[in-house]
Amino acid sequence: MSEPVPQEFVDVALPVPLRRTFTYRVPEGDSALPLGCRVAVPFHGRKLAGVVIGRREEPPEGVKRVFRVAGRLEAEPVFPAELLAFLEEAARYYLHPIGEVLRAAAPALPTGAFKRLREEGFLAEGEALPGRRIATRRELFVRAVPEAPEARLGSKQTKVLELVRQAEEIALAALRAEVGSSARGVVRRLEERGFVTTDERDVFVDPFFREPIERDTPPELRPAQGLAVDRMVTSLDDGGAFLLHGVTGSGKTEVYLRVIEAAAKRGRGALLLVPEIALTPQLVARFRARFGDAIAVLHSGLTEREREDHWRALRNGQLRLAVGARSALFAPVPDLGVIVVDEEHDPSFKQEEGFRYHARDMALLRAHRAGALCILGSATPSVESFRRAEGGQLHLLSLPERATSHELPKVEVIDLRRQRAAGTDHPLLTGPLKRAIRDCLDAGDQAILFLNRRGYSPSVRCGDCGAIVECPACSVALTEHRSAAELRCHYCDFRRGFPERCPTCDSTNLDALGLGTEQLEAVLAETFAPAVVARLDRDTASGKGAEQILDRLRRREVDLLVGTQMVTKGHDLPGVTLVGVLLADQSLAFPDFRAGERTFQLLAQVAGRAGRGDRKGRVLFQTFQPQHSAIAAAATHDYEAFYAVEKAEREELAYPPFGRMIAVRVDAGDETRAKDTAESLAHIARAHPAVHEGVLLVQGPAPAPIARLRGRYRFRFLVRGPRVVLRQVARAVAAQIDKGVSPARASVDVDPSSML
Ligand code: ADP
Ligand code: ZN
Ligand code: ZN
Repeated sequence: MSEPVPQEFVDVALPVPLRRTFTYRVPEGDSALPLGCRVAVPFHGRKLAGVVIGRREEPPEGVKRVFRVAGRLEAEPVFPAELLAFLEEAARYYLHPIGEVLRAAAPALPTGAFKRLREEGFLAEGEALPGRRIATRRELFVRAVPEAPEARLGSKQTKVLELVRQAEEIALAALRAEVGSSARGVVRRLEERGFVTTDERDVFVDPFFREPIERDTPPELRPAQGLAVDRMVTSLDDGGAFLLHGVTGSGKTEVYLRVIEAAAKRGRGALLLVPEIALTPQLVARFRARFGDAIAVLHSGLTEREREDHWRALRNGQLRLAVGARSALFAPVPDLGVIVVDEEHDPSFKQEEGFRYHARDMALLRAHRAGALCILGSATPSVESFRRAEGGQLHLLSLPERATSHELPKVEVIDLRRQRAAGTDHPLLTGPLKRAIRDCLDAGDQAILFLNRRGYSPSVRCGDCGAIVECPACSVALTEHRSAAELRCHYCDFRRGFPERCPTCDSTNLDALGLGTEQLEAVLAETFAPAVVARLDRDTASGKGAEQILDRLRRREVDLLVGTQMVTKGHDLPGVTLVGVLLADQSLAFPDFRAGERTFQLLAQVAGRAGRGDRKGRVLFQTFQPQHSAIAAAATHDYEAFYAVEKAEREELAYPPFGRMIAVRVDAGDETRAKDTAESLAHIARAHPAVHEGVLLVQGPAPAPIARLRGRYRFRFLVRGPRVVLRQVARAVAAQIDKGVSPARASVDVDPSSML
């Protein structure tokens, strides 16, 4: 047997914008440095935290001077092997610097890691870092004793006992909220006298865990659900990728729950990705009701320490189920058995800055590598996913009917061209819509009104010269927000007061134009008083806003909900029987080849919010283009019809998924510099022989649809063609960028989503 060759060198990924790694010598006395471990290394006179991603016997050829790793920053690797290998492949696929990818994926380093290193040298293997538990606090729970004796009680004691008897169990905090700080003393006396029992437990401080939740009883599966579950559970041991195409309300969530449960029984972990975690407290509640509180809910409200706690709990197997938005894709779920991507069509799964990855595509990759199942679920699958199902890369499973008693709601299309002529007091609040809202309110039901524009009026125009008031830093119109008495840029958040004079001609004749959600809310409140109107959009949803609005809706404290695309998400609100879409063709005008797809998805999804309880639903689409295929298909809940038209168009033009695409984006403070840089990069793309053969298409460079953003000028070009040649071009462009494009900034966006 030959002696193993000592591997004296390691490759370290550093958080620098360079598509390469750096070689270092292993630290003195710690030659067993494992892959995935964070280390401190000297880099241009500084110390940087990097991740060990390779080992080698010799430094790479041509490298003369090799520094030594200063030491470990943590005892155990932060990345398990499965996750590290996946992230490396993702970085390669998107041509993004691996160091930046790893930094984005991992939690912040434990506080004091560098200091500790300086004082004590590296941490020994197995030595625990100061560990902490998931953020919890002790809470006292009170239960009533069933057949307690009759006795005379004080008024406060009577009140508390009543509250306790109403609930199966109540937290002391809830009693305090009702009767004040004396609640603790009152409970103690009631316990002494045998009326109640108490029990102290840890509760999670996290908002998703604030209220205790009762375990549910799984419903009997519908036949289509049963088939889907069986098919997927059978594949649990070999992996496989599925598209679960189920109409809105068909019970997809129940399918996820069963498959995840089956995985858990085999001791395997699961990951559930959702578009916006703040909008899905109900989904989390359903998972808690089924699995209890051993769930890592990864959301943007977590502090760095909480994020680190969750990471550690998953890493050491204490938690095996993680739920979160896009970035939860990187959670170190142990022994991954299944990844579910709910509402897989949602654009929020694409990260649009820095490491521009698509969480749905990467979920397929990670699951495949880990031998796990991947389930993509949607009522309106992306064209990409449906195409994959046609091609056999995804197994298609369908839930064609609602799980509850009702059919999909009937959709009436209202032609705004005719209504305009008829003339109403508000151009977008037509007679038919008004009558429908009135009927809905009279029946004691709730309605959702969807308008994809926030603010009061989307723009302000000069009545004399016609100029639109724009953001000084971006080439976009400022939106009027009336209650805040200001104009705002929705791209950079610039704010100013309502101008007194036109910035171009000094006229005082300025008009606010168009309708936003803030105005619609006011119009509805006035028209339908005393109905209670609430609004759900970026302006009202921050912090706990979204959760509170949805809670009020569920408790029937709100009659009419106005909102942007946030109202189209998977909410299950049984009291909603009417959905009105104010302007169905709004998103069709987008300069984006996916505008039709996006419109269909928004409309079909929002329509799916109606009639999910025991009462029949009704939907109204107001539009100037009733004949448009995306609108007509959404109105008949006909995914296949939408897909057939969309597929034919994309195939003809070789748009994704029938051809691949990359976008190269350049921005700079100086317009000429941005343009020249884009030109020089496009030149590299055009030099590829496939361009002359007509296989590869270079479009642009041209100013981006939003030509200026935050004071920087933006140019971009698109390259389309078959995968292999496209990758060659992408690599050549990336290599040129690495040679130094600064001070202009340039990026390669592989499989771009946003065309802005
Ligand atoms: P989707 O995710 O497909 O929109 P949900 O999972 O939210 O649908 O299910 C819609 C409603 O139907 C929910 O209220 C859910 O509790 C209920 N449901 C799901 N499956 C069943 C079933 N097999 N039997 C009865 N009700 C069900
Ligand atoms: Zn003017
Ligand atoms: Zn701006």
